[in-house]
Amino acid sequence: MTTMPSSTRLNERLATNGLRSTAQREQVYGLLLAGEDHPTAEEVFMRAKRELPEISMATVYNCLDALVKCGLLRQVNLDRSASRYCPNMAAHSHFFCEHCGRFFDIAIDPKQLTPSLPEGFHAWHSEVSIRGSCPDCPPESARNNHSSS
Ligand SMILES: [Zn+2]
Ligand SMILES: [Zn+2]
Repeated sequence: MTTMPSSTRLNERLATNGLRSTAQREQVYGLLLAGEDHPTAEEVFMRAKRELPEISMATVYNCLDALVKCGLLRQVNLDRSASRYCPNMAAHSHFFCEHCGRFFDIAIDPKQLTPSLPEGFHAWHSEVSIRGSCPDCPPESARNNHSSS
C-alpha cells in the first residue's frame, strides 16, 4: 500500500492516460477505496448520489471505465452477475460466499494463478474465483444450496 494521498495518485494516473481528474471521478474512486465490499456499478451510483445528487448512472459508468483503464480499479466478473469493482490492485483472487453473497479478497501467490501451460501458450493475465462459505456463514447450509459444480 502506498502512503501517497489517493487523490494525488488518482490525478497522476488519470494524467498519464490522458484523462482529466473530475469531481465525479474522485468521488467514485474515493467510494471504492472506502468500502471493501466490491460494489456493483449500481451500488456505486447509489452511494455517489448522496454526495453528488446530480450524478447520472452514465457518468458513474464513465468514471468506472476510466478508472479501470488507468489501472486503479479492476473489474470483477463472476458468472452472469453484474460486474463488481475492486480497488485492490495487488495479486489476489476473489472468494464469493454463496451463503451471504459477499466478496472477499484472498491473497494469493501470483505463481499459483498460472497453471502449467502447453508449449506455445503465454499467459499475461489469470484470474481465479473461489466459491464457498465465509467464516460468518455455516458451511453446511451453503453446501446444501449448492446445486451444481
Ligand atoms: Zn458468508
Ligand atoms: Zn478484490
